[in-house]
Amino acid sequence: MRTQRQIVDYSLQRRAVLRDVRNGRIGTLEVCDASPYLRNAATFHGEPTDERCPICRRDNLTLVHYVYGDELKQSAGQARKLSELTVLAMTLREVQVFVVEVCRSCSWNHLIERFVLGRDGLAAEDSLRNEVMVSSGGGGSHRSGQSSHSGEGRR
Ligand SMILES: [Zn+2]
Repeated sequence: MRTQRQIVDYSLQRRAVLRDVRNGRIGTLEVCDASPYLRNAATFHGEPTDERCPICRRDNLTLVHYVYGDELKQSAGQARKLSELTVLAMTLREVQVFVVEVCRSCSWNHLIERFVLGRDGLAAEDSLRNEVMVSSGGGGSHRSGQSSHSGEGRR
């Protein structure tokens, strides 16, 4: 997405958790604890992926995008589809997005990415464009004075 910025990647943390699970330092129950809300969000607003669940390998992971920001008002903290995110990105100035992967089989879930969307990301581009318009708009509004003598065509 064009206005995507301030991307924070959590894949290192995710890998560390998975390593601990394999070592037996963390039980799968501790990491497979997706709430009913998160599972619902995955069902109704999730984006399917081709990636197998790293825990149970029975199902593909689903990505859920949670949105936060003052401009969202009562819908802050809700899950949104990708198509809805692109609309929000063009209508609001700044939206925080948290991406969580969920397995609908075993309830594995982990935050994988966080970023900011919104029109504020276009501000830099816009000011550039304005400068170009100002410098190229040099033509005054002089009209070559062709006065039409409309009263002359008498018959
Ligand atoms: Zn799973």
